[in-house]
Amino acid sequence: MDDLRDRVLGIDELVPTVSGSMARYVNLDNAATTPPMRAAVDAVAALLPHYSSVHRGSGHKARTCTAAYECARREVGEFFGADPDRDTVIFTKNTTEAINKLARATTVGDDAVVLTTVLEHHSNDLPWRRRGRTVHVRAHQDGSLDLDDLDRQLARHAGRIALCAMSGASNVTGVVPPIHDVARRVHEAGGRILVDAAQLAPHRPIDMRPHDDPGHLDFVAVSAHKIYAPFGTGALIGRRDGFGAVPEDRGGGTVNAVTLEDVAWADLPDREEAGTPNLLGAVAFAAATRGLRAIGWDRVVAHESTLLAHALHQLGRVPGLRVHGPTGADAARSKVAVVPFTVDGLEHGLVAAILGHEHGIGVRNGCFCAHPYVTHLLGLDPSAARTWLEQIRHGDKRHAPGLVRISLGLYNVRSEIDRLVDALQSIAAGDIAATYRVDGHGEHHPVGPRPSRPWPHRRPAQIAAS
Ligand code: PMP
Repeated sequence: MDDLRDRVLGIDELVPTVSGSMARYVNLDNAATTPPMRAAVDAVAALLPHYSSVHRGSGHKARTCTAAYECARREVGEFFGADPDRDTVIFTKNTTEAINKLARATTVGDDAVVLTTVLEHHSNDLPWRRRGRTVHVRAHQDGSLDLDDLDRQLARHAGRIALCAMSGASNVTGVVPPIHDVARRVHEAGGRILVDAAQLAPHRPIDMRPHDDPGHLDFVAVSAHKIYAPFGTGALIGRRDGFGAVPEDRGGGTVNAVTLEDVAWADLPDREEAGTPNLLGAVAFAAATRGLRAIGWDRVVAHESTLLAHALHQLGRVPGLRVHGPTGADAARSKVAVVPFTVDGLEHGLVAAILGHEHGIGVRNGCFCAHPYVTHLLGLDPSAARTWLEQIRHGDKRHAPGLVRISLGLYNVRSEIDRLVDALQSIAAGDIAATYRVDGHGEHHPVGPRPSRPWPHRRPAQIAAS
């Protein structure tokens, strides 16, 4: 296990707590972003002395960097099982930019639809709404995808499906829809599929499969900062024929020749990478894919599933704590290691703040950029959701519904889950050291004099609205 921890930087940092003491930080917010893998940092460090421009210079360093960039592109494509002849790998800033790029390249005719789902992160929903009619496939109460509704929508819109845009794993519940099975159904209905792999890529191998395989994935969008390479890059990988002959973003790098009257556009992928590319990000991305391969997917999956099973079991012992999403016996195997929960009588923001300020444990709370899905999981009726939206529109986020989320990475260990569970047990018992004030953004901040150790035992109703 230690070798897994050694592969990642910054996981044993000491951080201050409100008591004035230092705690070893526990990062349980890997779904937001992962710490860097040593392999990614080393690859960047090794390239830095040679750093120069890509595709734009004749000097030795420029040629070295161009080769490194194109090699990274090849490796990333291979990692996801892309077809080097029929697919392209376009480096982007992140998943959001990748999906927006595909959305702008996709024509949605007047009678066509984009199928997406209630599970989606806003980044795989809002770009499609802008393109045309978007239909959201429903989720079951436990947050899993309603495959019967998928079939109904596919039958209703067969022949008119511009694309099905679906996440490979939910950033809220960790639910993993059967993407290849969905791909087969979408293809039968005459559509193509985009998998938003932001949350799947860190936890499971992804294979786009050959183009003639019915379960083939047409497009995959991914962020390197969620697979241990936080250097500002991501990728859109997929069918070359998904992109027009003329790019939306234009400028340096996208052309072969320009006259005052005319433009000869470059080939893919250059045509879709306007401006100076993020060489260091691409190199780090490729290094992280090598790092994951070196560890081996069997080991990553086995370790994270064991940890998830432990987390689900231990969280179930905290009084008043309710896990949302699938919790059944096979949840630890069938979903990725993301667990959302609420604690009776305590606001999600307060729980997250106490964990952070008093226990040195990093989690996330709120709706995780998936508002429709979280309101669905919480069972909020549409009028409550509308009221909440209006309040936020008027600048008041204090009453926003939400959940607390932990999300595990390959380097997390059992003792970190145990620290979380101990902390939650004491919070549920009213063991809260500081008083908290909520600001207009709904964030909780500790106020007043620092409590002395040992921490006083107080009831949770210590929130003073600002
Ligand atoms: N999709 C999913 C499922 C995500 O979890 C995220 C990030 N939380 C995104 C898309 C967007 O990723 P990024 O912010 O890196 O663009």
